[in-house]
Amino acid sequence: MSFSIQVNNTTIEVQEGEILLSALRRNGIKIPTLCYMADFAPSGACRLCVVEVKGKRDLITTCTHPVEPGMEVVTNSARVIKARKAIVEMLLANHPDDCLYCERNGNCELQWLAEEMHVKEKKFFSKKNTDQRDHSSPSVYRDPAKCILCNRCVRVCEEVQLVTAIEFISRGNKTRVNSAFNKGLNISSCINCGQCIMVCPTGALVDISHIEKVRSALDHPQRKPVAMISPAFAASVAEELGLKATDNPLGIITSALKKTGFAKVYDMALANDMNVILEARQLKERADKGAALPMFSSCCPAWISYAEEFIPDNLSHFSTVKSHHQIMGNLIKYHLEKEIPVEEIYTVSFMPCVANKYEASREENTRKGISETDAVISVREFLRMIRSYGINIKRLEAEKPEQPFINNSVAGQQMAYSGGKAEAVALQLHLMEAGKEGDSFRFTPPKNPGSRKEVKVKIGKKEYGFAWVSGIAEAQRYIDKLNQEARTDIHYVEVMACPGGCAGGGGQPVAGFANYEKSKNRKKASQDIEKSCKVKIAGLNTELSRIFSGTTETDQGYYTSFRQRDVLK
Ligand code: SF4
Ligand code: SF4
Repeated sequence: MSFSIQVNNTTIEVQEGEILLSALRRNGIKIPTLCYMADFAPSGACRLCVVEVKGKRDLITTCTHPVEPGMEVVTNSARVIKARKAIVEMLLANHPDDCLYCERNGNCELQWLAEEMHVKEKKFFSKKNTDQRDHSSPSVYRDPAKCILCNRCVRVCEEVQLVTAIEFISRGNKTRVNSAFNKGLNISSCINCGQCIMVCPTGALVDISHIEKVRSALDHPQRKPVAMISPAFAASVAEELGLKATDNPLGIITSALKKTGFAKVYDMALANDMNVILEARQLKERADKGAALPMFSSCCPAWISYAEEFIPDNLSHFSTVKSHHQIMGNLIKYHLEKEIPVEEIYTVSFMPCVANKYEASREENTRKGISETDAVISVREFLRMIRSYGINIKRLEAEKPEQPFINNSVAGQQMAYSGGKAEAVALQLHLMEAGKEGDSFRFTPPKNPGSRKEVKVKIGKKEYGFAWVSGIAEAQRYIDKLNQEARTDIHYVEVMACPGGCAGGGGQPVAGFANYEKSKNRKKASQDIEKSCKVKIAGLNTELSRIFSGTTETDQGYYTSFRQRDVLK
């Protein structure tokens, strides 16, 4: 049922039971918040969303208050603005005020609020947080001094990712966000997904940057840096910079990276195709031999970390195929070694993910002691990097990425979003079983990121069940359900740790409340780029057939060497 309420002397329509904050925002009325996150139960922690309501003595928080018939709300009175300004001034009381040196300078919600509230000087002074900065993680950097205790990271880590690597400790003015026992994130249960970075309003959580080490490699006379661009990365850059698929985003990124000094720039989509083919082979083998099913995808390193830490008994269900950037690093290093000594090749993958930084450092992702991937640059880092090189990407002419490894199928593109990989594996399996392209079925992602979907497909004489799910909490709920119901009709489950898949990855540009919308736009950008691929199925990529036929079993072993070392034994 809907009814009307008065807001700033204007009538607006609201829905019964609706939270006042949602109703105001839906009607275009801006209300500041720092703790609120859509789809989460409100916590009312920051109190910035206060308004006046006629008949109520105190200001009320709109995030915790449902709309009421006859309500008369004032969102911008002097009293409201004064209260909000005082909150921001208090948040700044112990802030380090080092905006100039902060990763989030210019994209910080606290900075924006201080500007909006016209905070011009430090009004309150309190003891600075002197807790040590945490550099220990390979993916996430924590600076407790910049934390405003908004609770967003804690909730995402617990409610979306089910990990609880960080939480509130102590009480009163000693309250802090920290990892267990104040030890580094590297020895916590953190899975390096970076979702906490995506929601942090300040520079308290940022990624461990690889920009400096890439710059050093670019300047090093004995290093030959080689760039590998993931399709999801290209789609995100396109979305961020307003490039259309017809502008050839990959070609423009190639051109930008050549200007920074990369001698060779490769498209990673072919490695995605290889990943799909190898997973489809393993799925068929398991189904034929009656091995443990469903098989879980293994291309998301944060999902692998979660499984190793929390559900190790399920590791036998995992595909053993490495992720595309590890496969690509391997392909490039051992393809180029004839012209460049392998120890001089420095592979840099461009990904929408921060868990890949951790993944690249894992021992099993080395060959003869040499890393397959030496550095990983997130979308955020790339955008900063090209700014620092003074490159105006919009004025660049697209250039072709390096040959070979230039061909790919739609499968190579569609791993960027939830459901894309499962569809690609199903099509590949059909090709393997029937020897020809199947009906073109399309796996549409669930309505909301961080949820799941199932589909049954007839392949040969068998019916296969495919499912795809994103967000670890949802994945865990799904596994529990499959186990409780003793289901045997699901053969393959694609799991992406980040809600919506890589389109919502932890290395994407941080967009605060627009994160969800941006993720949808990135998926659309990927799907627009896909349209230019003439080859629909990974197994029809003829370049890949040539690579497979020319590689030894040892080489192929490196694309599938098992990440879960215990299972490997
Ligand atoms: S990276 Fe992921 S798992 Fe680690 S603290 Fe952040 S949200 Fe939690
Ligand atoms: S680290 Fe960031 S997201 Fe977490 S409580 Fe502090 S300010 Fe909020």
